[in-house]
Amino acid sequence: MVSENILKIKQKIWEVCQKVGRNPDEITIVAVTKTVPVEKIKEAINAGIYDIGENRVQELLEKRNSLENVRWHFVGHLQTNKVKYIVNFIHLIHSVDSLKLALEIDKRAEKINRPVDVLIEVNTSGEKTKYGVKPEETIEIVKQISENCKFVHIKGLMTLAAYSPDPENARPMFKMLKNLSDEIAKLNLKNVEMKHLSMGMSNDYWIAIEEGATIVRIGTAIFGPRK
Ligand SMILES: *Cc1c(COP(=O)(O)O)cnc(C)c1O
Repeated sequence: MVSENILKIKQKIWEVCQKVGRNPDEITIVAVTKTVPVEKIKEAINAGIYDIGENRVQELLEKRNSLENVRWHFVGHLQTNKVKYIVNFIHLIHSVDSLKLALEIDKRAEKINRPVDVLIEVNTSGEKTKYGVKPEETIEIVKQISENCKFVHIKGLMTLAAYSPDPENARPMFKMLKNLSDEIAKLNLKNVEMKHLSMGMSNDYWIAIEEGATIVRIGTAIFGPRK
């Protein structure tokens, strides 16, 4: 049951926050709905979810027609030629991983005079199958985007930890993201605010919260296994 799953997750978030002295209100659950049909997404919305994440533009656009009062998050790899389809409504793009992509978002956003909030995706695991900028290149990219873009507003960092049966193994990657975020915050760059850490999924979100996550992206633990 979707609503029961959400309740359990909220309970767990509450418990972890108690444990580490954080306020549960600081943490946003983004329900990641790739492959999940609209009817099931509506159950999540009825259970109090406002934030929906998709990783493919086409699928997001199709679902958007059937869902109201939702904040849309883009969490997958974004091709520059797809930016124009989401720039006018997207709440947060989690996956900016190049200056080229940021420049395209900036150009499109300027045309409609709408600043767009983004996160920089960092490949903290070093896995070749994963997108994201290298940790050691992150500060440079953030500086370049800050210098060259007016309508792209960086609101933090995002990462996907390497999958492991033991979620403890994700902790060093979350720590790495938090450290990078603290370093960037000190630089006081234009249009850069290290407000969000988008990290933690079904398998490891409680570890991510212990390490400072403000956004957790959860699919399976809400909707069950994907087909
Ligand atoms: C699918 C996906 C998630 C959710 O994964 P689960 O393990 O099902 O919770 C989170 N983030 C991204 C970028 C995803 O593609």
